[in-house]
Formats: sequence, C-alpha cells, structure tokens
Amino acid sequence: MFASNLDTPLVYLKGVGPKRAELLQKELGISTYEQLLNHYPFRYIDRTRFYKINELNEDLPLVQVVGRITSKEIIGEKHKKRIIAKFTDDTGTMELVWFQSLKWVEDNLMRGSLYIAFGKPNLFNNSFSISHPDLEPYPRQTGITGNLTLHPIYHTSEKMKKSFLDSKGIQRLIHHIIELHINEVRETLPQYILKKYKLISRKEALIHIHFPANANQLQHAERRLKFEELFFIQLQLLHNKQLRSLKFKGALFNTVGERVNTFYNTMLPFDLTNAQKRVIKEIRLDTQKGSQMNRLIQGDVGSGKTVVALISMLLANDNGYQACMMAPTEILARQHYQSLVDLLKGELIKVAILTGNTTKKQRVILHQELEAGEIDILVGTHALIEDKVKFKNLGLVVIDEQHRFGVEQRAKLWRKNNIPPHILVMTATPIPRTLAMTLYGDLDVSVIDELPVGRKPIETKHLYEGQRLRMFGFMKQEIAKGRQVYIVYPLIKESEKLDLLNLEAGIEQIRYQFPLPDYQISIVHGQLKNVDKQYEMNRFIEGKSQIMVATTVIEVGVNVPNASVMIIENAERFGLSQLHQLRGRVGRGAEQSFCILMSGNKLSANSKTRLETMVKTNNGFEISEIDLQLRGPGDITGTQQSGVLELKMANLAKDQIILQEARNTVIDIFEKDPMVELPENILLKNYLQKRSRAIALDKIS
Ligand code: ADP
Ligand code: MG
Repeated sequence: MFASNLDTPLVYLKGVGPKRAELLQKELGISTYEQLLNHYPFRYIDRTRFYKINELNEDLPLVQVVGRITSKEIIGEKHKKRIIAKFTDDTGTMELVWFQSLKWVEDNLMRGSLYIAFGKPNLFNNSFSISHPDLEPYPRQTGITGNLTLHPIYHTSEKMKKSFLDSKGIQRLIHHIIELHINEVRETLPQYILKKYKLISRKEALIHIHFPANANQLQHAERRLKFEELFFIQLQLLHNKQLRSLKFKGALFNTVGERVNTFYNTMLPFDLTNAQKRVIKEIRLDTQKGSQMNRLIQGDVGSGKTVVALISMLLANDNGYQACMMAPTEILARQHYQSLVDLLKGELIKVAILTGNTTKKQRVILHQELEAGEIDILVGTHALIEDKVKFKNLGLVVIDEQHRFGVEQRAKLWRKNNIPPHILVMTATPIPRTLAMTLYGDLDVSVIDELPVGRKPIETKHLYEGQRLRMFGFMKQEIAKGRQVYIVYPLIKESEKLDLLNLEAGIEQIRYQFPLPDYQISIVHGQLKNVDKQYEMNRFIEGKSQIMVATTVIEVGVNVPNASVMIIENAERFGLSQLHQLRGRVGRGAEQSFCILMSGNKLSANSKTRLETMVKTNNGFEISEIDLQLRGPGDITGTQQSGVLELKMANLAKDQIILQEARNTVIDIFEKDPMVELPENILLKNYLQKRSRAIALDKIS
C-alpha cells in the first residue's frame, strides 16, 4: 500500500490512535513512521549517576534517586486531589507527588519495593520533592531501553503531554518503530563515503541516536547524521550551481574598452588595493566564460566595494550591455547614485536612479530611455525589480547588502533579459565561513580582505554611564577640530515607546551640552517622514550640522568621510554585527576615527563579551565568528528567512570540520562525475531526481 512501511501514517502505529496522530501532526508536523524516526532527542541525561537524598539541592537539573516507597496517601478534594508518597533511602526521605493519573499510581506503585525515581528536585518546606517522577523498578531491566545510560529527551508540547505524548511516550513509539521496521531503513550515502570518513550506517545511527548505550555510540551516531545533513545541502547547492552554468549562457564581456580605460586611467582618485584588483580579475574571468556569473563579494565596511562594482558595470557598458545596481533602501540607493556620479564626474556614461519616490512623469521618461538603451547604469531600490522596468540589454546586476533580498527576487532579475544577466552580490556584513558555505554555497565567493592604505584603524572605547561627561568633553574636542559626530540610539520594536522617551531625553541632554547657535544637530529616526529624514540627513552630509542623532536608520551605507566619531548609546542592547556595522560609518576619511560604546553599569556576561570584542578588534570576519559562537546560527543577520538553516542535527557554529568535509566530498564528486552518472553515486542521483520532482510539483501547485 505504501512505498515502504516507513511511509505508513502514524495512525497505524500501535499506541497511536487518530487523536494522537493528529496531535503529532499539528504539534510537530510529523505524520509517518519515518518522520517520527527522524525526530531526534534534543538532549540526553546521564543516567549512570544516582543521587542520595541528602545530596539533593535545588540547583540540580534532573536527577535519579533509588529508594523505597514507604507510604502513599491521597490528599485534597476534586481538582486539588493529589497523591503524595514518601520515598526513602539510607540518607533521608523525600516526597513524590502526582496530580494526575491518580488511579494508575494508586493501583500500580507498590509500597516497600525499590524504585528509581527520576525528575527535577524541588525544595518545599525544608524537604525535597519530585512532581510526576519517572518511576521504574530497581534494578533497571535490560532490553533496548532498559540499559540506557544516556536518557533521551524529546521535544513535546503541553497538549501532547496531556495525551501521554510526553518525552517517554514518544520514546515508546519510536521504540515500536525500531523494533518492527529498523531493517527497512535505507542507506542514503554511498559506501565509499562511509568508508572514507568512517561513518556508521544510517540504520545504526538511527538506533543509537534514540537509544545510545554510551557516549561513544551517541557521538558516532551524531557525526553520521550531521554529515548526512550537511552533505545533502551541499550536494543540492553545488548541483544547482552546476546546472546553472550548463543551462544559462552568460553575456560575454570580452573587451576592456574606452569606458573602463578612461575611468581607470584618468578618473579613479586612488590606487586600487590588491584585494580590489584581485576581485576585479575574478569578475573579468567569470564574464568571459560564456556562462552566467553568480558571485558574492564579501568585504568589510569601507573596503571599497562600490568602486569594484562600478568598474564591473563599466565593463558591461564597454561590451554593449546595460547594468543596474540595487540597494535595500532609498537612502542607500541615493548615496550609491551620488557616489557613482561623483566618481564619474558626470561624464562618460549616463547614470540614472529609480526608487519608490520617482514621480510618474520621471518614470515614463526613464522607462523609455532604458528600453532605448540610453541609460547605461540604473541605480535603485526594489523598484528595479518591477516587471514594468525593461532594459534594452541588461548584462550585469549588482545587488548591495544581499541579506535583504531573497533568492526569489534574485531569480526575478535573471528574467529581465534573454540571457540572464551576470549577478554580483555585495555584502558588507561579513559572515562566518560556515554560514557563507551554506547560505551562499551556490555562489562563487570573492573576499576583499584588505582596507585601502592610509586608513587608520578606528579606536574603540567602552564607557559606562557614569563617564558620560567625559564623552561630551571628547565630542567637543573633536567638533572643535572640524569633525562631525554620530550618536546612535537603539530602537527596538517591542519597547518603541520607551526607546523614544530615551531618545528624547538624550536629545535634551545633548542640546543642553551643545547649544545653538554654535552647534547644529540633525535628528533622524524612523517616525519621521521620508522628506524630513532626507532633509536632516542632507544637512549632516553637507556639513551644516555637526551632530547627527539617529536611531539605527543610519545603520547601512551612509558615507560622510568627515564624520569621525561614532557614539553608540545602550551599546549592550545591540548585537555584535550591528555594532560593527554602525562603527563602519566612521573611519572613512583620512582622520583618526573613534567609536565610543556607552553602556549601563550592570552588564551580562554576554554583553560584556560583545563590548570587549568590539574594543579588541576591527576585523569584521573575526567579529562575525564570535557573533556566531555567542548567538548561534539562527540569529545571525540574513539567515532568518533562509530555510537552508533549519538544521536538525548539525550546528554551524560547532560543526565546521564536518561541514568542510561534506563540502569537499561534494566538490570531489562533481569533479569526477559532473552529471552524477557513475554507479557508485546512484543514491545521490536518485536523491537529486527526487528533489527536483518535488520542487517541480511545488511550483505547479
Ligand atoms: P564599502 O565596501 O563599505 O561599500 P565604499 O565602496 O563605500 O566601501 O568605500 C569606502 C570609501 O573608501 C569611499 O570613500 C571610497 O571612495 C574609498 N575607497 C575605495 N577604494 C579605495 C582605495 N583603493 N583607496 C582609497 N580609498 C578608497
Ligand atoms: Mg557600500
């Protein structure tokens, strides 16, 4: 009836009726034997350790105690009714308490017998108790669950617990499946890979992940399942990449022509760094291959990505193609537009801008010019993606700040031309290698790992609230030298009201310290209308105000080289990568720049580490690695919307080595067997076919 017994709906499993089947589906999204088998414990408790009653304390998590039930009585009325049993060992007495299943407890627990009670000890009226303990006769029975030293704990929910689908209930179901069907589990990895990396079979791994006899067994099971998980993600990513390069022809940028040469020789105001040169070379090679380029440029803030993008776009122009550059916000798009116009001194090519604020009238003209091929470079926001926007011959798309654009939007851009345009993605948020490999594993990656010469590293200091006057004094000193200062406040949605109060109080204090007419202050926050925001920003950009007080709206992109001091208020409330981004707003000119992190006096250990990291290093990659360790992959910028990272087993912060092994293995496979045709790879071929069928079905429905 089903392709394999493991595809059987859970409702057919002993112990699961329609009600529990529905619960499992609703609460965990699990509906077949196989899916339940793949519902792994989220932790294990060491059950080799037994506690004596006089060793208990309230800080202990789950413990097990061996003792005898010496008495049990029902007390209370109706819904307050409960059973309290006295439980005694040779060091003392504690209580076991049940509020539910009283009848079962009453009928089954025997006074005088030895039991192992397992649960969380609570202190109440000077004596310890465990509510709803797991009880089993002592000594423990052997058998698949009986001799476990590591006790698996499964995710469940309150609703499930009410239907006896607590961790133990789930374990019982999984036990049934393993007993009856474990021999039907199919291997997913080719034998030669298992051998090479000394991985255990899938079947063994599943038994041991649920019922590990010891820590060593568990470790092998975890390693196998992590490898498998990461391997198949890499297989899919690199397969997609392979297909794209076979399927999509790319525009050929064979000539370095007049525009690139003129710009490079007569307009570029500085020498490129070696890193910039290297990346441009990589782009040159990519765009002469005849296949579509999909390249990610990772470069720290201030590493000079814009000019790399510009030269690439000029290269497109030289070869008869248009180019566009897309930014996530209006402000950023305007800044990019301005930078390009400045760099090009308004000559050489025609650059235009399109954003949500472009008027209808302007749009009509713009659309015409674009289709006629009169515009060489179009800069803009999401507005660029709209279907109405048609190019004559789009050859290159540059996307700044990738993490705000989804894969779907990227794909929409491809369709803007018969031959999909080359794609250059730029991200100013360095991300850890493991994340890059997983999130952007289908892109080629270039890294600009060098700042322009002469940049002085930003000096970062952490000051406590009590040192605020020192901070104001420092500001005055720098403003007197002609510099400009940012002061940034956190603004977090849930407490927006409080934050605004905070901001207003802050502004009042700043105004007091920096009175008119000597000091001008620009204030920018999310509640302002766009025009007002723009007006205030411009005052600062033009040097008419010395201080910019802002919420995090300035986070990305603004470029004011004369601004050399960044003050971050409540710095402990920002994440590391955000702090780093904010700091990157300064240090763009020739002057020594400073970043001051203001914080409250009491800091959590985690906040302290973050602030210390900021003081210690300016290196975005280093910071991103620490960020990953502190927060785990789920919270790193840009990963939230990516399903790729819903890993069941592997952890990108901890499993770097396994990930690298998995990726290398896949790279080797495609090198040896590009179409995945060798008999030894038959399992992989089947996997990819199954996936592409699933994706195709998904698109149809
Ligand atoms: P980001 O990588 O953060 O986008 P930008 O492209 O905005 O950095 O560059 C930051 C600043 O550095 C700009 O003012 C830019 O003109 C300047 N810049 C870029 N490359 C160089 C270089 N090789 N030498 C000197 N200054 C440079
Ligand atoms: Mg930039």
